[in-house]
Amino acid sequence: MAKQQAYEVVVIGGGPGGYGAAFMAADLGLEVALIDPEANPGGVCLYRGCIPSKALLHLVKVKQEALEAEAWGLQFSEPKLHMDKIRDWKNKVVEKLTGGLGTLTKKRKITYIRGMAQFADAHTLEMVAGEEEGSKIKFQHAILATGSEPVELPGLSFDHHHIINSADALNLEQVPETLLVVGAGYIGLEIGTIYAGLGSKVSLVEMTDGFMPGADRDLVDVFSKRNKDLFETVMFETKVTEAQVKKKQVRVKFEGKDADKGNDSYEQVLVAVGRKPRTQNLGLENTKVKVDDKGFVQVNAQRQTAEPSIYAIGDIIGEPMLAHKATHEGKVAAEAIAGHKTAYEPQAIPAVVFTDPEIAWCGLTETEAKAQDKKVKVTRFPWAASGRATTLGRNDGFTKLIIEPDTERILGVAIVGTNAGDLIPEGVLAVEMAATAKDFALTIHPHPTLSETLMEAAEALYGQSTHIFRK
Ligand code: FAD
Ligand code: NAD
Repeated sequence: MAKQQAYEVVVIGGGPGGYGAAFMAADLGLEVALIDPEANPGGVCLYRGCIPSKALLHLVKVKQEALEAEAWGLQFSEPKLHMDKIRDWKNKVVEKLTGGLGTLTKKRKITYIRGMAQFADAHTLEMVAGEEEGSKIKFQHAILATGSEPVELPGLSFDHHHIINSADALNLEQVPETLLVVGAGYIGLEIGTIYAGLGSKVSLVEMTDGFMPGADRDLVDVFSKRNKDLFETVMFETKVTEAQVKKKQVRVKFEGKDADKGNDSYEQVLVAVGRKPRTQNLGLENTKVKVDDKGFVQVNAQRQTAEPSIYAIGDIIGEPMLAHKATHEGKVAAEAIAGHKTAYEPQAIPAVVFTDPEIAWCGLTETEAKAQDKKVKVTRFPWAASGRATTLGRNDGFTKLIIEPDTERILGVAIVGTNAGDLIPEGVLAVEMAATAKDFALTIHPHPTLSETLMEAAEALYGQSTHIFRK
């Protein structure tokens, strides 16, 4: 029997954008419902993205560190992988975090509706799947946060066993003997690292001329050097033109510069060539919501769509498709609905590739500065001169600051090295607060930590880095 309910705010999609928005709206005193097909909030990030991938990246890093410790006189026996336990542990991490979000949802008195919704009009949703299928939900405002899904390549449709996407890969159903990863961006590098660490022979094929096309090349070079033996084969400026599943193998054909380096077949092929907004079956045609030519929902600075009662946040509205950007937008949308003066206007959104070494940056990159013909000063501190990096046996990194020449304002920060992702927020704060190189140089950083590399990079601008001697 269809029911009818009414809320001040209904959030569609329970990912980091959606639950962030719902929690903020409830904290601001609004009556909120949150709709998602899973048992608890979490979305792609917690169930099939950020969290399971980071748990597994940690596991393979521990394995690698155990092997490398031998050089320091600490020898472990050869690590053994127990795949059932690994899968179990990864699932427990996800359950713990999503269960926690479920508890927080209840504590905030948010009505959690398990299922899928679509717009009937600008103030009504209809449940089209789940326990309340057929029921109508009225809202004063809705926040659309249905996220994104993997792009499929022609001729490489997912069968989820042999030709797989990131969600399939993170299910860890099997560790194939050979894995071809198509796309050497975030997912290609992170999941490629995981499977190589679990024992697969991993090959990468990338259409551009290097790993992580969006990152500065000097950062990527540090990744490439440390990982020169991690992958079986790396093919740049190359594409897969054909794939056929035969006798439990995927037979593939390559085209491009490194086509000759590839094998004829692989046990599995992971396609990781980007993600697209999840706008289908949402009933957007029953509203005034507009999408751009790539299918992303268009919004203003408050994240309001062309339909005044409907806001949109997260991956569904475009790049960068990152969890922390989605959550921030969710908070802005909730504040706008509550009548606060607010806008989405970050100066810097951090990006972190959680490989080993981690690659992290925020604000203006050196590549962008060159492309924009913008005059900048660039100062670097090599981790070879860092006490902390040396105690960790990890001198393979550096910290770089992109500085406005006249004002010495920090415009961007980039770090490559172990735990770079935990260091980059100091750079984000610096960019957001219009800090200068002097601010970094005069801020006392704890010794011995990797954070000192930010201070010393700034000191290097003046030729006064304690641990670099410049004649
Ligand atoms: P999503 O997390 O995509 O959530 C959308 C939710 O909406 C889903 O639960 C979906 O089921 C639900 N939904 C869809 N349609 C409907 C409907 N009609 N009705 C109700 N519910 C619906 N980002 C980072 O910042 N750091 C990382 O380390 C990171 N790692 C990643 C690793 C992988 C393998 C992947 C795939 C992504 C990763 N990301 C990472 C990106 C991150 O997951 C996304 O940017 C983030 O999840 C976007 O959040 P969102 O709220 O926009 O949507
Ligand atoms: P991506 O955009 O990071 O990388 C896709 C790569 O595929 C690019 O290098 C691109 O040049 C290449 N490519 C495209 N078409 C190709 C083809 N036909 N053949 C060979 N290569 C091809 O996309 P992704 O790795 O799929 O990740 C999707 C998004 O998910 C990311 O953009 C990011 O927003 C998010 N994500 C973030 C993290 C993180 O924050 N650590 C981790 C995973 C995913």
